[in-house]
Amino acid sequence: MENTQQRLSELQQKIIRLKKEKDIAVLAHSYQTADILEIADQTGDSFKLSTAAMELSQKTVLMCGVRFMADTVKLLSPEKTVILPAAEATCPMAEQISPERVYAFKEEHPTYKVVAYINTTTELKAATDVCVTSSSALKIVSRLPENDILFIPDKNLGSYLQKQLPEKNILLWDGCCPVHNAVTEDECRKAVAAHPGAKVLMHPELPAQVLQYADVVGSTADILKYALEHEEDCIIGTERSVRDYLALMRPQQNFYLLSKQLICADMRMTTLTDVYHAMLGECGERIELQPETARLAKHAIEEMLRLGA
Ligand code: SF4
Repeated sequence: MENTQQRLSELQQKIIRLKKEKDIAVLAHSYQTADILEIADQTGDSFKLSTAAMELSQKTVLMCGVRFMADTVKLLSPEKTVILPAAEATCPMAEQISPERVYAFKEEHPTYKVVAYINTTTELKAATDVCVTSSSALKIVSRLPENDILFIPDKNLGSYLQKQLPEKNILLWDGCCPVHNAVTEDECRKAVAAHPGAKVLMHPELPAQVLQYADVVGSTADILKYALEHEEDCIIGTERSVRDYLALMRPQQNFYLLSKQLICADMRMTTLTDVYHAMLGECGERIELQPETARLAKHAIEEMLRLGA
């Protein structure tokens, strides 16, 4: 602990003092930069952070990530003040479908359950039946009594589910995470050849043809868990911050990035300086949700919890 304190920058130490003085909790998604992860009260994927926020004593939460993550924190903790430090940070995948198209689909296909990846806007969640995370998707879709499923918006995670659950009739939407979807087979072959013996850990948002090179396919949390529980060198097939964080935590292990394309510009929008100024009320956006939309979106998340997220 003493070493960590010594290593912290002046700005990080100011933020830590402000957290105490103003009684603010900082949540940071695993794709945030290491200087933010180091001062956060909780780190992890979006769902872990939103459920962790419910247990926090602080009434104000700074959610370092993109808009749908701050929205999800607010959905589950409506009594808290939730602030997104970089107001312009959004997830391109979360907005790839309009809720109107989902409502139209449901009207035309009444037997289908609409399952939404949690990386969606609140308005889109409100139009769906149940949400899933990358770590819970398989379990939840397999537990649905319905066989006809429309999975939105990520065709890659959806195609992974199709392969694992051939008994289900899963329709896909043509959406994807542009960051993960950009990785090519050629990059995989080169990474594997350059680091023989390293375990290849991949996120299911990567394209199906790329996933065939994986030793382990799992969520960000699964990738972190595997890498921290094993002594092996690893090739990391998800956002670069995960590799950087692992390198910081485990200097004795080698972590290689699968592709240099794995950098999410939206996740990089939040800087440590933004965190500092947001705590002083000088930047960021206070999240407000339309009550009826929030009620419907929360129902889709509660369904996820009921089915065993
Ligand atoms: S990595 Fe992909 S899914 Fe995650 S926030 Fe960035 S664009 Fe969205």
